[in-house]
Amino acid sequence: MRKPKIVVLGAGYGGLMTVTRLQKLIGSNEAEIILVNKNEYHYETTWLHAASAGTLHHDRVRYDIKKVINGSKVQFVQATAEAIRMDEKKVILDNGEVEFDYLVIALGSDSETFGIKGLDKYAYAITNVNAARQIREHIEYQFATYHNEDEKKDDRLTIVVAGAGFTGIEFLGEITNRIPELCKEYDVDRSKVRIVCVDAAPMALPQFDRDLVDYAISLLESKGVEFHSGTTVQEVREDSVLICKKGEEPQEIKCGTVIWSAGVRGNCIIEKSGIENMRGRVKVNLDLRIPDKDNIFVIGDCSLIINEDCNRPYPPTAQIAMQQGEVCARNLAKLIHHQDNLEPFVFDDKGTVCSLGEDDAIGVVFGKKIKGSSASFMKKVVDNRALFMVGGTSLVLKKGKFKLF
Ligand code: FAD
Ligand code: NAD
Repeated sequence: MRKPKIVVLGAGYGGLMTVTRLQKLIGSNEAEIILVNKNEYHYETTWLHAASAGTLHHDRVRYDIKKVINGSKVQFVQATAEAIRMDEKKVILDNGEVEFDYLVIALGSDSETFGIKGLDKYAYAITNVNAARQIREHIEYQFATYHNEDEKKDDRLTIVVAGAGFTGIEFLGEITNRIPELCKEYDVDRSKVRIVCVDAAPMALPQFDRDLVDYAISLLESKGVEFHSGTTVQEVREDSVLICKKGEEPQEIKCGTVIWSAGVRGNCIIEKSGIENMRGRVKVNLDLRIPDKDNIFVIGDCSLIINEDCNRPYPPTAQIAMQQGEVCARNLAKLIHHQDNLEPFVFDDKGTVCSLGEDDAIGVVFGKKIKGSSASFMKKVVDNRALFMVGGTSLVLKKGKFKLF
């Protein structure tokens, strides 16, 4: 009898969690498991802000997928998924196609651009390892070029960060630590460097209480960041950005780098494939399947589940993607074992920590507010735990963060 074919798209937090759990739950004679991912490596998306700022080497944030999957149970296919044909039960890849009986879509997110002019051409978004490398190298290039021009352009050393959400704030935490090193390396006077953060909302990180946000903002301001709240980016140009504070005239900030960290939407393949979505995210049933599609699961940043407590979607986070991966694996195993009592996803909120550079952070963990070195310690524990969940102790020893204080 033909074995059912389970195809998992994406080896990020959600996809890799699904596969590493599934390979323990079903036997190799029960189903064929195929994992499709763009690269032969997995990257810790949650560390990319540090690789972008240059405070963490890009190789530290990635590891070989084959090292954490069981090759006798899971076939790894390195390919880019281009379209999902739900009714034909197949996925079109850049190097062929793959058929499925069960599909898990775990392709992560794309930057939300809101159609802003010049963004795709001149701004940088922290999206993957190569994007992070490009940001680091671009900033270094600006420093390296500064002294080698006949006419010095101080604006070259201005970095504008658009979005004071988690990604923007975490990047600011790293870049403000990196700037003194860059100044020393390239003989640049620190006072020539300007770091500006622009956010449309009245307050950064609205998920946290005011005292924690004030702590974060004061720390970053003390390291030279200028915050412009209630201000939107309207256009990005080759060497400047046009911003507008509510009720005021637009203002142009000359700069050498624009980092776009103003939110995400589900992977564009969802829309391209004609799957019903809200900002690229598919509203799934609690068992994580698409309504009326008994064989298709969507997890992680591509999925949307409403948090009944506030009647708003859960945010796209690694914590949720990993928990969904565990439930998805158990539900797939049930389907393979012909059981129909699928498990609902129930979010177990362990808390949130936002880093402010390697040694500082703010957060709420198990309902308790934390900041400073204790929060930074917790952040590293969370990072190491994510490694442990996928690759056990050996992966933690290879890739983990051990400078705990
Ligand atoms: P991802 O982990 O992004 O994985 C998607 C995978 O799919 C990748 O391997 C990608 O290469 C692959 N892929 C994409 N397109 C294709 C394609 N067409 N074909 C084949 N493969 C493809 N969340 C937290 O909970 N805590 C944090 O501290 C945190 N920090 C963050 C810091 C930063 C800088 C950023 C950007 C995000 C952070 N997040 C954090 C959010 C978190 O990273 C995401 O919610 C999480 O990565 C989503 O997991 P996922 O499995 O859906 O997608
Ligand atoms: P976000 O949605 O959290 O923040 C985006 C920010 O951009 C908002 O503050 C918004 O007001 C601002 N913005 C939107 N349009 C703008 C414009 N035109 N001009 C200026 N500002 C604008 O998005 P994010 O920071 O990219 O995070 C994405 C997801 O990843 C979130 O769910 C977040 O929780 C998660 N994440 C978590 C962590 C963590 O837990 N430590 C770290 C990074 C990201």
